[in-house]
Amino acid sequence: MQRIPEPLKNLVDQLGHLPGLGPKSAMRAAMTLLKWPETEVRRLGKGLYELRDTLHLCSRCGALADSDPCPSAPMQSGMRASSALLRSGTAC
Ligand SMILES: [Zn+2]
Repeated sequence: MQRIPEPLKNLVDQLGHLPGLGPKSAMRAAMTLLKWPETEVRRLGKGLYELRDTLHLCSRCGALADSDPCPSAPMQSGMRASSALLRSGTAC
């Protein structure tokens, strides 16, 4: 079997952690990404990066937002929903 280059192997390993993607599907997805135009691949990468950089759960209402507190958060309440969402969001 042909040796898989390290960057491709790393991507396939990462993609394989996504729900519904086994090793073969992850490899197919990675090969598809290799065929995408560079701008599209970079846009996807930027989107992934920004998930962690700019999105989080509002500390007041638990909604997914790009600011904390989010613009529509009530002044008090929602703390329970927030921590429940946070727990489910980080479990893997
Ligand atoms: Zn909020």
